[in-house]
Amino acid sequence: MIVRVPDLTEEVREVEFREPAALLNARMDASPGWDDEHFDGDLEVHGQLYRTESDVHFSGTVSGQVRSVCPRCLEEFVWPLRRDFRFVIVPARGGAEPEDDEGIDHYSGDDLDLAPLVCEQGLLALDPSLLCSESCRGLCAGCGANLNVEECRCAKRR
Ligand SMILES: [Zn+2]
Ligand SMILES: [Zn+2]
Repeated sequence: MIVRVPDLTEEVREVEFREPAALLNARMDASPGWDDEHFDGDLEVHGQLYRTESDVHFSGTVSGQVRSVCPRCLEEFVWPLRRDFRFVIVPARGGAEPEDDEGIDHYSGDDLDLAPLVCEQGLLALDPSLLCSESCRGLCAGCGANLNVEECRCAKRR
């Protein structure tokens, strides 16, 4: 979603939009380490936007469904992603921007594209260490049985 900065005022504007799952998944495919995680649906964004002078304030929540592989039992499962965010977006002054300004982003011109900001939040909310359930019993190291759904066969050998 692109907003025109001159249209924003100090009055808080509610925004709701979606970013397509395909866009996020393409970004994950392009970077290593996300082989086991995919967005199962669009990333939903609920936020508030307002402007003070030339600074744009954008806060809200991203949410969506993610399909992951449990690192303990190796089964696929779907979990609800949710993350709150808060940005202050200031005009780029041109030249070198200090990269390490925590929570400060930049825009240039009159158009501000919110998509890269919220997609980044969606990716930051991913957690490859998440288990399918707190009580996941995992796989037996001996026979490889998924102990959530079947019994260990080790004792029955011999
Ligand atoms: Zn599991
Ligand atoms: Zn076993």
